[in-house]
Amino acid sequence: MEQNGSPTAASECDLERVIVVGGGLAGLAAAVGLAPRGFRVTVLEARPRLGGRAGSFTDPATGQLVDACQHVSMGCCTNFTHFCRTIGVEHLLAPQPRLTFVTPDRRRSVFKADPWPAPFHLGRALLGAHYLTPVEKLRVAWGLLALLSERPDADPPLREWLLAHRQTDRTIDRFWGVVLVSALNETVDRVGLRYARKVFRDGFVRHRDGFTVHVPAVPLGRFYDAELRAWLDRYGVEVVENCGVKRLTGAVSGVELRDGSRREADWFVLAAPFDRVPDLLPPELAADPFFAGAKELAPSPITSVHLWYDRPPLDLPHAVLVDCLGQWVFSRGEVAPGEFYLQVVVSAARPLKGLGRDEIQTRIGEELARVFPSVARATLLRSKVVTEHTATFSAVPGVDRLRPPQATPVPNLALAGDWTDTGWPATMEGAVRSGYLAAEAILARAGRPERLLRPDLGG
Ligand SMILES: Cc1cc2nc3c(=O)[nH]c(=O)nc-3n(C[C@H](O)[C@H](O)[C@H](O)COP(=O)(O)OP(=O)(O)OC[C@H]3O[C@@H](n4cnc5c(N)ncnc54)[C@H](O)[C@@H]3O)c2cc1C
Repeated sequence: MEQNGSPTAASECDLERVIVVGGGLAGLAAAVGLAPRGFRVTVLEARPRLGGRAGSFTDPATGQLVDACQHVSMGCCTNFTHFCRTIGVEHLLAPQPRLTFVTPDRRRSVFKADPWPAPFHLGRALLGAHYLTPVEKLRVAWGLLALLSERPDADPPLREWLLAHRQTDRTIDRFWGVVLVSALNETVDRVGLRYARKVFRDGFVRHRDGFTVHVPAVPLGRFYDAELRAWLDRYGVEVVENCGVKRLTGAVSGVELRDGSRREADWFVLAAPFDRVPDLLPPELAADPFFAGAKELAPSPITSVHLWYDRPPLDLPHAVLVDCLGQWVFSRGEVAPGEFYLQVVVSAARPLKGLGRDEIQTRIGEELARVFPSVARATLLRSKVVTEHTATFSAVPGVDRLRPPQATPVPNLALAGDWTDTGWPATMEGAVRSGYLAAEAILARAGRPERLLRPDLGG
């Protein structure tokens, strides 16, 4: 997909103009898809920074760049990896060859691949999980085989399906839930089978590299820094931050900005989150059934608990917590002299609703201290609790009926966003896919069809 050379000054005035509304990963991927292909792209972003939900904020107390929530990618996220490679930040993602699963009794299992072909590469890791009995491991293996034999579009409620396929409350909590709550940001009793199958198929079965977790080695804000800016400059992409769009105008000829000014273009990519889209559409489009799903998608929250200690609190870079309130803990090391930073992520965080920040921080801090003696010995210097109420859409059974494709009925308007129809759950991979697909839609309608989407691993 990479193209050489940047548009010359002479040719720039001939380029067709594209306005991308939203500078999250979806909007940026659309810009990356279109800018080298004969379009003059402008990205309008409401916030003072790029990256949207996969971004960082500057902690006013310390001036440190802090991720609103730790993000991870996986080897199977081929489009996100391609996006990072294209803009020159792939080196900021650190592949993790081993994961550690920890239970409240402080026992640990290491999950790593053997040098065997998929799907056998993870067999020994599953057999070594200390938190499942041998019979439970057989149940899980049976359930996985049955899941993978399901039709790709089958989407019954997952929990009922699991119970009908020899799973117990314990295997659901200790195996299926541990993987799926983090991957889908939803609990097993709410999700449909389709995306559960996708997680296990793409992540664990199709290719031996699919399951490798990639952790950003730096705060996410760094991904939108020098390398991205240089790439955008090279291809003449204009980025305007602090530029909230009030709505698209005409159907569609321009955008009206929150400051009352207007901008016009030939093409538009609406790359805003689903809960913003209805207000951003012109009234004549807002009622179109094509866009109706944006109003019906349900949100699912994620809470992240940020903790700064006076000494190294963990002997691991990260750990998956089994049978705990928190699901992942990430240790980011010494971020300032004498300050060691941990982040705990609670996906599908509805159980925390109604609890104050102090209560959440106390529960998570006490849990960590029980699981890791080194945390109990460290002194907590400060903390922060961040809840994103609309972190992702909820992958309920049949959710794809509510996800529109990127090519809209309006010839010069494409949609992008992790919530659009990508075949993926709401992830950075899904967002980048949507951006590439939106760019494909515009290229096709401009008479220059081109495939931008990257193939799946092993596909
Ligand atoms: C707490 C949390 C943890 C997560 N963890 C992971 C993870 O570990 N791995 C993973 O793959 N995914 C994770 N995700 C999901 C991932 O962050 C999203 O799927 C992805 O970032 C969505 O990108 P997007 O571009 O579709 O949307 P967004 O990131 O929401 O971008 C939309 C952009 O549009 C802008 N905008 C909105 N309205 C306007 C307007 N009127 N005018 C101009 N601009 C506007 C917004 O400011 C925003 O920048 C997580 C999400 C959250 C919230």
